[in-house]
Amino acid sequence: MTKPLNQPPDGFTCAVCGEYHKGLPLDVAFGAPIYWDQIPEAERTARGELTPDFCAIDDRDFFVRGLIEIPIVDSDQFFVWGIWTSLSRKNYSRLIDLWRDPKIVDEPPYFGWLANKLPGYPDTLNLKTNVQSRNVKWRPYVTLEPIDHPLALEQRDGISFARVQEITALTLHPEKL
Ligand SMILES: [Zn+2]
Repeated sequence: MTKPLNQPPDGFTCAVCGEYHKGLPLDVAFGAPIYWDQIPEAERTARGELTPDFCAIDDRDFFVRGLIEIPIVDSDQFFVWGIWTSLSRKNYSRLIDLWRDPKIVDEPPYFGWLANKLPGYPDTLNLKTNVQSRNVKWRPYVTLEPIDHPLALEQRDGISFARVQEITALTLHPEKL
């Protein structure tokens, strides 16, 4: 008999606030790279552009939104970080040109620096990543360079639902970080 797959819990007692939270989201997304958030709001329009998928700052720094997928062990599910990585100007332009083009599946991986600080990990800013285009429907798949950083290890080895609860507790209460 095969072992039944683990299912996400209906809810969990939060390690940060002590309350019971219903449900367990399996994804956490950042709306922008950290460098965009650091620009005073009044200056943003003049200095760059932010869309749901792309961000350019000062016509010098370029970012795309992608997905870091972490397998949940003994389940068929993934926990997904919606994060931003930098891209070279050349790769950024190319990706925008190909964004709605089926040929995008043939793109090689692009190099990118991770541009968000993920809660629940040692500093993740500027971790090296590969940004792999998939198809016109899916955001690029981002893989960490295989180093000893916990985020890279988790992407390789997977995490438990208990760990997802820990991450969710932190993301629900950013003011306590
Ligand atoms: Zn809580």
